[in-house]
Amino acid sequence: MVEEKKYTRKKIQATDMMNEIMADYFYGLNEAATTGKQKVAWCTSVGPAELLRAMGFAVQFPENHAAILGATRTSTDMIPMANAIGYSPDICSYLTSDIGAYLKGITPLSKAYPGIESVPKPDVLVFNTNQCRDVQDWFAWYARELGVPCIGISSPKSIHEVTDAHIDDVAQQIEALIPALEEISGTKLDMERLKEVVSLSRECTELWKQVLDAATTSPAPMTFYDGTILMGPAVVLRGTQQAVDFYKVLLAELSQRVADELGAVEDESLRIYWEGMPVWGRLRQHSELFAGFNTAVLASTYCSSWIFPAFDKQAPIRSMAKAYLELFIVRSDEYKEQYIKEMLARFRIDGIIYHDAKTCPCNSNSRYGMPKRLEEATGIPSLIISGDLNDMRCVSDEQTKTNIEAFIEQLEERK
Ligand code: SF4
Repeated sequence: MVEEKKYTRKKIQATDMMNEIMADYFYGLNEAATTGKQKVAWCTSVGPAELLRAMGFAVQFPENHAAILGATRTSTDMIPMANAIGYSPDICSYLTSDIGAYLKGITPLSKAYPGIESVPKPDVLVFNTNQCRDVQDWFAWYARELGVPCIGISSPKSIHEVTDAHIDDVAQQIEALIPALEEISGTKLDMERLKEVVSLSRECTELWKQVLDAATTSPAPMTFYDGTILMGPAVVLRGTQQAVDFYKVLLAELSQRVADELGAVEDESLRIYWEGMPVWGRLRQHSELFAGFNTAVLASTYCSSWIFPAFDKQAPIRSMAKAYLELFIVRSDEYKEQYIKEMLARFRIDGIIYHDAKTCPCNSNSRYGMPKRLEEATGIPSLIISGDLNDMRCVSDEQTKTNIEAFIEQLEERK
């Protein structure tokens, strides 16, 4: 049996700055929606946020709200409300928990940010199906419920190489959104402003990559669990100066940790790659469980998905199209396997954990033989754990713990 020790988390000081800018973001959105001073757009996580921001919209991301529902462990109670109006418990639990929370008139934002009574109401809903079809269905429900326009991009999927034809397709769809958005916002798109926003997104992306790359060192200065929280500004504030400023501060702190050889996990012994969605309602438990075995879960597809090297202010719309297409979730299994192989080598990984999330097949890459193929190609063992991102009824804590303990024991024997 491997011995589990008590774990004390080392606080990342930059978290305080992050909390401040996230509070400013949510209060800003609330003000936009309640005073009407600024139009509000809801956008999918890798939708055309740069365009919306450049056109003066305050941008809200329902997936971020759903993740907060998950992390605050309120999501599971919301899901039955959406099930009752015909949305299956088997579809995206971000969708069902977010719509369920709306139907119940509840948001965790009220508790975190006193004075905010509800999620800011949208003037327009803008989706990109690059990640899944669920986002379009999700926004379509709100469009009917709130009587607001829903427009978006239908993306190609399972792409091996991103070609000019793919980019032309998506770039044309982005351009086609502009007249409708100009009408809603009441302003013309300023191409210089779009270039500026794309440039800030690029800077944010580069800094976020350097933050994640800090974990290539041993001991790793941060874990996947830190990353799921610290990525907040990269998700909701990409294209802004605040996000850039925050990641500079975070990077400086992590660089100091690297110089001081200060690991996020005491006496780091094993290094794990996490493939798939986080289990939002179990972040702390999972973080403590692994750390208790001197095991650092330090790299992931999920956190790395907010790295968009394609952003280029010289070609703002085409580069947005390219960035949204190059996303891991949009790619073929062959591409994904090559990507993971490179990550395993770069982060010197001892084992991979695949999270098979019941309600998110698009982010569950363990269902079509990938773990076996990668294990044969790299010799790196893997474990599949069944669970979910937001529906904790799909999570068996005992089973997860037992399986992880056995996996760590296997990895230790192998070392
Ligand atoms: S990718 Fe998965 S978690 Fe994200 S919106 Fe789609 S189904 Fe939901």
